[in-house]
Amino acid sequence: MHTQSDRYPPISPKCPHMLHGGDYNPDQWPTEVWAEDMRLMKAAGCNAMSVGIFAWSRLEPQEGQYEFGWLDRIMDMLAENDAFAILATPSAARPAWLDARYPECCKVTAEGQRRDHGMRHNFCWSSPAFREKVTAINTRLAERYGTHPALLMWHVSNEYGGEGSGAPCYCELCQAWFRDWLRDRYDNDIETLNHAWWTAFWSSRYESFDQIDAPGPLGERAIHGLTLDWKRFNTHQAIDFYRHETSTLKRITPDVSCTTNFMWAFEPQDYWQWANEVDIVSWDGYPGWHCRGDDVREAAGAAFNHDLFRSLKAGRPFMLMESVPSVTSWFPVCKLKRPGMHKLSSLLAIAHGSDTVQYFQWRKSRGATEKFFGAVVDHVGHEDTRVFGDVAELGRVLKKLDGVVGTTVRSEVAVLFDWPTRWAVSAMSGLGHRHRNYLGTCMQHHAAFWTMGIGVDVIDQTVALDEYRLAVLPMLYMLRPGMAEKIERFVADGGTAVMTYWSGIVDEHDLCHLGGWPGGGLRKVFGVWDEETDAICEDDVQRLVLSEGNELGLAGEYEIHQLCALIHAEGATVAGTYGEDFYAGRPALTVNHYGDGKAWYVAARTGQDFLDDLYGRLASDLGLRRTLDATLPQGVTARMRTNGETDYVFVMNFTDAVAGVDLGETTFADVVNGGEVAGRLALPAYGVAILSRPAVEA
Ligand SMILES: [Zn+2]
Repeated sequence: MHTQSDRYPPISPKCPHMLHGGDYNPDQWPTEVWAEDMRLMKAAGCNAMSVGIFAWSRLEPQEGQYEFGWLDRIMDMLAENDAFAILATPSAARPAWLDARYPECCKVTAEGQRRDHGMRHNFCWSSPAFREKVTAINTRLAERYGTHPALLMWHVSNEYGGEGSGAPCYCELCQAWFRDWLRDRYDNDIETLNHAWWTAFWSSRYESFDQIDAPGPLGERAIHGLTLDWKRFNTHQAIDFYRHETSTLKRITPDVSCTTNFMWAFEPQDYWQWANEVDIVSWDGYPGWHCRGDDVREAAGAAFNHDLFRSLKAGRPFMLMESVPSVTSWFPVCKLKRPGMHKLSSLLAIAHGSDTVQYFQWRKSRGATEKFFGAVVDHVGHEDTRVFGDVAELGRVLKKLDGVVGTTVRSEVAVLFDWPTRWAVSAMSGLGHRHRNYLGTCMQHHAAFWTMGIGVDVIDQTVALDEYRLAVLPMLYMLRPGMAEKIERFVADGGTAVMTYWSGIVDEHDLCHLGGWPGGGLRKVFGVWDEETDAICEDDVQRLVLSEGNELGLAGEYEIHQLCALIHAEGATVAGTYGEDFYAGRPALTVNHYGDGKAWYVAARTGQDFLDDLYGRLASDLGLRRTLDATLPQGVTARMRTNGETDYVFVMNFTDAVAGVDLGETTFADVVNGGEVAGRLALPAYGVAILSRPAVEA
């Protein structure tokens, strides 16, 4: 829970407003278009444009021959029009001359093949030539524009690790770096590594660090410790490269903030390792509205990511760096955003802590792979389009939100979502591939709070639990050092923890805990021994039967799917049992009173219905603060940002029908339209209202 009572500084002191704009590629367009771009930006209420992200070949058409005239003009034009540049370093896409002269810049595939020139992100993290060329162009950009009035901040490269599954480089330089990283991690002692990786298995023992290769399709991929360390190393490499880029920028422009745009809970990069590297967290969000079946679930998924990216810096506002004003061209079905959805989905980000709405892209590219990717300005070239109208309308709303800038979200609940745990669950052989679903499980638990309008942080195992009242620990398969002790202290001191099946199974090296699960001392905290797990098939029927008089006060039965842990209550009180099969009657839900707190163990995977009811009851018992007191209609949620003096309440309807929301006793101010709102609020389909009230103390 964040306790700061005043507001955070704006993203940049130059612009204490909500930022609105997006990726702007004047380098793709003739100069005649630029003045029209400026006029249209004003008409759309845009004030911050990301410039130069893939412009290296325009900035340095030949090695050492720089052409900044066009960017000088664009920076000046932005300043003349009261707009700012989020100026990029261009490393994500490289000019042909660079790869032709220095082939080592291209990355090597897992099969050992050097990739050809082309595409984005296709570079080796180690290549000295590439690093030197990046420093050269970054130095010139920082020296030339460091004091330009339009410079707002640095946009370092683009979506590090993007394209494919993070696509690491397997060249000899990167492999040697990996071995050095392992030497450091294991105190240069190969036997420490052999034990951690359990290399007695299949005669996998290493005699020296020199014998180790990155895991891949042509070599070792059965040693999970190796796989896990390679994933950790991939994040280490990317961060090292970011530091390489920013060292130049920080030296020349120490007062200008740096960020790099993250992606949707992107599996290959542990963003918690990045949290202290970037000055501001930013991310690119592309939910699939209307085309993946359920907009409410889609919104809850987007909200999970927003909560994660806000939590990375303990509540500090983040940047939505990319979003699409209309349609994402690489989706399986490219359905248009329905009327209202653009404003709603953008304000969802703001409601969860973003101080920006930025787009990819400003003007739709004329050719190549992104020519049909949604843009503010379409190929028709003018502002008389539905999408431009939606963007301009949002621009008018954002101008009313100066008071929201720098406010934060307060959460009494934390949902734990941990990258190394995710990597280990995905690498393991067990449970059945489709049944693991670590991310989906974490999102399901998070969604229960989102629908109730209760603030949630999404944290990992490095974050302290003390400030929270409820810690939700879905599939905590891996216990990193100190985590079990942290949970024990949290519960003993009066916290409520909810842990599920498949928790406390392995240590940080993916070595199984011996002596009964959950390991690490959590068996006594939860008062259960988790003996074995039954993965059931789709047609199998299993039920959770709640015990009479259980302390949740819930009754009846719920369906169970996929995973059922067979547990023994060792001091815990049984609150529910299995209804079917040879383990009918055995505990499926328990609670252990431990110290001053409670430790719940949910032994089976249920549907959303049980999680909603479970957390609804726990929220009431704990008196967790809801944004609005009344029960929210299906598909409507309410989120709150606050600075301790004023609460800003966002009420959002993710259904295609009108919804009525009970506002209780409070009279709110309507932040956008002015006037007061009380009693019952009517929201149209995909409608949103932004209300304010004097802060209510938690
Ligand atoms: Zn490499």
